[in-house]
Amino acid sequence: MRLSEIFTSIEGEGVFFGTKTMFVRLAGCPLKCHWCDTPYAIPMDSGYAHTIDEVKEMISCELQENTYKVNFTGGEPLAQHEAVIELAKFVRKKGVKTYLESACYDSARFAKVLPYIDICKIEFKMKDARAVVDDKYYNNLLKNELECLKIATEAGKMPYIKVVVTNSTDVDEFSALVKEVFRVASPKNIAGFIIQPSHKTDEPVLERLFAFYDAVYPFYDQVRVVPQLHKIIGAR
Ligand code: SF4
Repeated sequence: MRLSEIFTSIEGEGVFFGTKTMFVRLAGCPLKCHWCDTPYAIPMDSGYAHTIDEVKEMISCELQENTYKVNFTGGEPLAQHEAVIELAKFVRKKGVKTYLESACYDSARFAKVLPYIDICKIEFKMKDARAVVDDKYYNNLLKNELECLKIATEAGKMPYIKVVVTNSTDVDEFSALVKEVFRVASPKNIAGFIIQPSHKTDEPVLERLFAFYDAVYPFYDQVRVVPQLHKIIGAR
C-alpha cells in the first residue's frame, strides 16, 4: 500500500471535532478539489510504499492512550480499499473506533469497507470544488455519493453529512443537493449535517452561509456551520 503519513492530533472537522484522533493518511486520490488542503497526498505515486504489516506496526507505535478513533483519510482511502479493510480490522482489535473519511467516489468499494467502519462521513462535492473535470463525471460522483449515503443509513451507521462551501458555491445547486440528500435519507438516520466554510480559499461571507444554512434547516434543524478547528488552534 502507499501511505502518506500517520500522526495523532485533535479532530478538527465534523460532528466529532475536538476528539483525540489518529490519522492514517493513505496516498493517492482520483479527484482534484481546487481547495484541497492535502495536495501532497493527491498523486497516486505520492507517499511511501509499505507492507500492511509495516503499517500495522506504525499504528501500534503511534497509538496513544485515550485515542477516541482512528481516521482512515487521504488522499482517498477508497483508492486502496483492501488495505483499509485490513487496517480497520487491526484497529478494532485494539478496541479503538474506526472512521472513514472519504469523498465517496466509489459506492461499490464503500460497501465493501463499511462493515469494518464504526463512524462515517458522507461528503458531497459541489461543482465549484472542481473535483472532476466536467458535468458527466460530476453526475457520476454525485450518484456514488448518494448511493454511499443510502448504503450507510440502511446499515444503521448513522453517518453525518459534510459539504464544503466557498463564496462561489451556487445556492440553487446546494438546495437541489439538500433535497436529494433528504430524499435518500431520513433526518432520524443521520448524525449531523455540517456546512464547512472553505479556509483561505474563496471564503464564504456570512450572508452566503446563512443561505446554505437556510436551505438545510427546513429538512433538518440540527444543521451546523463548522469551520476546521485544527486550523484555528494551529494543529495538523
Ligand atoms: S477528495 Fe479530498 S484528498 Fe481528494 S482532492 Fe478532494 S479534498 Fe483533496
